[in-house]
Amino acid sequence: MLKITQSPQGPIQVKQPFLVAGVASTEYAGRNLILTIDNQYNATGPKIAADGTWQLNFLFQQVGARRLKIAIANESVELVLNVVATLPRLRFTQSPVRTKVGQATTFAGEADGYADGTALLLRADQRYELARPVVQAEKWQAPVSFNQPGTKAIEVIGSGQDKAQTSIEVDPAPPRPPRLSFTNPPTQIKVEQMVTLTGTATDYEDGDQLLLRADQQFTLARPLVTNQRWQASILFRQPGKRLIEILGSEQDRAQVIIEVQAVPSATLTIQPRSSWTNTPTPSDIPNLTSPKGITIHHTFLDGAPPANATLAEEQARMRTILSSHINGNGWSDIGYHFIIMPSGRVFAARSERKRGAHDLINDGLGVAFDGIYSSKTISQQQYQAAVALCTLLCKRYGITDTVTPVPTLTADFGTRNLPRIFGHRDRVATLCPGSEGGRTVRLAEIRQATNAQLRG
Ligand SMILES: [Zn+2]
Repeated sequence: MLKITQSPQGPIQVKQPFLVAGVASTEYAGRNLILTIDNQYNATGPKIAADGTWQLNFLFQQVGARRLKIAIANESVELVLNVVATLPRLRFTQSPVRTKVGQATTFAGEADGYADGTALLLRADQRYELARPVVQAEKWQAPVSFNQPGTKAIEVIGSGQDKAQTSIEVDPAPPRPPRLSFTNPPTQIKVEQMVTLTGTATDYEDGDQLLLRADQQFTLARPLVTNQRWQASILFRQPGKRLIEILGSEQDRAQVIIEVQAVPSATLTIQPRSSWTNTPTPSDIPNLTSPKGITIHHTFLDGAPPANATLAEEQARMRTILSSHINGNGWSDIGYHFIIMPSGRVFAARSERKRGAHDLINDGLGVAFDGIYSSKTISQQQYQAAVALCTLLCKRYGITDTVTPVPTLTADFGTRNLPRIFGHRDRVATLCPGSEGGRTVRLAEIRQATNAQLRG
């Protein structure tokens, strides 16, 4: 019943003492075990205790697969022990302290006493296999990356109980930089054509404000992000190639080039005076031979027809205005030369060969938007009709520049530098046509667009 109860597991190092323990029959108590080494050398072993137990402290002086036979009387047990010069031992020599999710990082180490080609196991948190590095020249290394942030316990595991441990802190992946783009932007649009631009705003928050600008200087809109998208409506009044940019945080921007095309001047139809009244402009009104400019007005009369009015309704409206000017103002005829209805239809009013009754000086043509534009803005149709009409009149009367100020006689302000298209209020102390600077009648834009048409 001789038995071994404890012996080294795995290799043992040469000249390192180790313990073998066991039990024998109590009938041998007090006797010494007999040791036989490699079937050749005999030695006296430890004494068997009263309870039959025994303990052997031993060491080998030579490496190799060593046989150790332990005997008493006619019983024996045998051990084969792998005695090595160096015990296998894994170590980390490269163990990064921090990394980021998804970022490649390398662990490396030494594998003393391991044969070339031995596969090791590198694992995290005692569960997740990271790599199976192979030993070469008693070294190993393994590139790894992590999918989840947190502190990870890292082990490299070899033979038997041999392993080494370290840890690494895995930081969350940095947020991706936000990104803007245009979605199917047009490459060509037309002057005065309202276009809605849209795009993505990846990783932006709802409510983030972006900047849409043209030619790196003109702000077009400040759209807000909704569901990682943005949109803004734009409209250009001048033809040409425009660099459009959407800008966000952290230098993020997207660019697109849009060509704004001039619209061929609309064929302007002017409703003749004879279409709405049989009464001609009185012949005794002084002639207007060479108009010096165009004065813009609003009729400042309630009841302008809606934009979808019929021609007949507008003709009736012309008669109402005529009556108001003759019976209300005591003039001999309607005061303006042309009236532009909210629909965009243009009506010839007073004969353009006769001086008007519209800005006291009356050395030019009077063009009025029908309605009251003290705060509301003229319709888009009115705007386009005004540009077309002004262009036609300037060409007809040799006016080649509608933006450069020239000395101009006024009724209430002496001589002023005014462009050739100006508002009634520039010449007379009046609120016509609407807001300061002619904003509600888009005076500056009419001037610019007409000038562009004259040059185009
Ligand atoms: Zn006026």
